Order: sequence, then C-alpha cells, then structure tokens
Amino acid sequence: MKPSSTVPDTAGRFGDFGGRYVPETLTPALDQLAAEYQEACGDAEFKQTLDSLLNHYVGRPSPLYHATRLSSHCGGAQIYLKREDLNHTGAHKINNTLGQALLTRRMGKTRVIAETGAGQHGVATATACAHFGLPCVVYMGEEDIRRQAPNVYSMKLLGAEVRGVDSGSRTLRDAINEAMRDWMASVKDTHYILGSVVGPHPFPMIVRDFQSVIGKETIIQSQAQTGNLPDVVVACVGGGSNAAGMFFPFIEHPEVELVGIEAGGRSEDPGEHASPLTYGQPGVLHGSYSYVMQDGDGQTCDVHSISAGLDYPGVGPEHSYWKATGRVRYDCCRDQDALKGFDSLAKTEGILAAIETSHAIWAAMQIARERPADQKVVVCLSGRGDKDTAEIARLRGEVAGQ
Ligand SMILES: *Cc1c(COP(=O)(O)O)cnc(C)c1O
Repeated sequence: MKPSSTVPDTAGRFGDFGGRYVPETLTPALDQLAAEYQEACGDAEFKQTLDSLLNHYVGRPSPLYHATRLSSHCGGAQIYLKREDLNHTGAHKINNTLGQALLTRRMGKTRVIAETGAGQHGVATATACAHFGLPCVVYMGEEDIRRQAPNVYSMKLLGAEVRGVDSGSRTLRDAINEAMRDWMASVKDTHYILGSVVGPHPFPMIVRDFQSVIGKETIIQSQAQTGNLPDVVVACVGGGSNAAGMFFPFIEHPEVELVGIEAGGRSEDPGEHASPLTYGQPGVLHGSYSYVMQDGDGQTCDVHSISAGLDYPGVGPEHSYWKATGRVRYDCCRDQDALKGFDSLAKTEGILAAIETSHAIWAAMQIARERPADQKVVVCLSGRGDKDTAEIARLRGEVAGQ
C-alpha cells in the first residue's frame, strides 16, 4: 500500500477513486482552487491566520475526554471522546468552513454558496461568512428543512439566505445538485464551500486537510494523557469529513485500528439505509468516482437515515481507497441502535450527541465491550445533539418540552 501522504495524485486520484467528473465550465474554477490552496499551504501567514481563528474563535484544541462512566457501563475497554461538539457552532464543520472562507478571500471572490443536510454545515458556513463579511446562500432539501428547523433559523439570523430544494428526495444529495447548478452560472465571483470530503478534486483533499486538525490533536492528547496512541479509533461516516480528519493523521500508524460507521437505517434493503461502503458499488456521483448506492442501471438510489447528516448515497473517494487498501474497516449502525447510543451517552456522561455521532457511539460501545480494560477506544464526537431533541421526541411519540 502506498503511504497515504502520496494521495491524491495531481489528477485527484486516491488509487482508483476520486478524480474530476464535471462540466467544462467548472474546470478553471477547480484549477484555480487547487493552485490557490497549494500556494496557501506554503504561506506561513495563511496558516497562522487559520490557527489563530481555530484557537480563539472556534475554541480549539477540543478536549479528549475519558468517558469513565460510559466505559464502566460497557465493561471493557476505556472510551475516550474527541469533543468536536464543543467547537463554536457545535460540530466539526467549522474547521473546514473557516479554512475555505479564507481561501475565498485569497481568490478575491465575493460571494459564497453551500449545501447542507443536517444544517450544521449551513450554520458553519453562514458563521464563517458573517465573520468575513461575505454574502452567503445555502441550499437545503425541504425534508431536511423540516427535520432541522432550529438550524434553518440560525442560518437566517447569521445573515445567510436559505434556499429550499424541492427536487428528488429533497435531502442533501439534491441540495448539492442545486449548489453545483448555481456554481456553474456564478463561478466567476462565487466560491462553493463544499461541506464534506466529496465532490471533484481538489475538494476531498482540501476538506480532509482542514479537518485533520482533529486527528493531529488526538495524537498529541492521547500521548500526553495516556502515554501512547489509542488501540481503536471510531468515527461516523456521512460524506466522511469528520472521519477523514480523524483518521488521516493515524494512517501512518498501522497499529491503530480505524473503524468508520455508516448509517444502517432500517434494514439492509436498498433505499432503507445510507451505507454505500457496506452495500454500494463504485460509480460517479457529484463529480468523483467512489462507492455509491445505485440501481442496476447505475442510477443513484434514494437512501434513508434517521440522521439528516448521514442521509447521503455517496461517500468521499478517500474512504473508498481506504476500504480498497484495507486500512480502514467500515461497518454500519441501524437507526434504532444509534438512538440507544444517544441514550447511553446522555445518561452515563451527561452529553447529548448529534444523532449522526450516536451511530459511532453505539459502534464504539460494542467494540469496547469485546476488549480488555487496558485498551483505549477513541470516538470522534462530531457534534452536539441539541438540534435533534425535537426529532427524537417526535420519533418516540413524545413532545419535546413536556
Ligand atoms: C455533517 C455531520 C456529520 C456527517 O458528515 P461527515 O462529512 O461524514 O463528517 C456527522 N456528524 C455531525 C455532527 C455532522 O454535523
């Protein structure tokens, strides 16, 4: 296996995966973005500005917290939580949006668009745009607007315009289509802040790099707090950005097991889950070649997840590469089990996790149960669950606030 620092290649390929499958109108903008990013990587001032924002505005480093009551509840290995939920705006998304907003400014572009599923990326983009004084339009599926009403209102309060998308499954995938359509018409003055490690090159690489702060901090914190690296690292996978950011710095530590958890939904039947790495086939979606949920004709399937942030038929190409090389193991967690993970963490530790994150929590609990007490399992606690309490109440036939 090639060391991962050599991927992607200049064409944006992670092994067989990735690349750039887009209309020609977008090629100059993607080339410009790749060149600008490369230049920014060699610019000490860019790095310093971003680091300063991450420290003083986002509140980094986020803690690595030893969840002792959750660990004894499972009765096995020690569980540690990387608390991305404590970031400003409540999830890992802000690490990427601030980086890309800085790139927007560097490129001299004056308008930002974004897509959002759970609303977390929309809020994080609206926040970064307010910080830099950039006008911002966020595309969001109507189904997600219903499920994530508090985030929709937050985006408006932050000065962004939210445009509802009524086509297809009215979720994240349709919002990305709409954002790409906008971008094709507006690319001269507009940057598209993509929210995960998906899309055409160079987005999967750029988003991974901005999110890698998660894994880098985890390595330093684990060494300082426990004297060595964790045995297992677990993260949930929607498009795959919190997982990629957590895993990437660990790739070159082969002794650390990496586990990505997709949304297992209601069953393994097509349309009932959002687990392309577990049940899908390689294909092209949103400009890159990666595992996708598709039918026999290669048409992208509708998918389902209890969580808006994982309700996506594709996955970042680097995850497909890590699956192919065997460096990361992928599995999935059903809707009902994610709710159990949510409950266990709430009641043992006093932390409401995002329902996306709860998939990883449940999986980590199962892994911890099978391991001796001297092993360490780190979970990326990608976001907080306040946005989900009303939806959880609805699913349980309860009314939030009563
Ligand atoms: C958006 C989101 C996810 C899923 O996106 P990834 O790109 O797979 O990380 C997971 N957790 C939270 C809290 C999110 O907001």
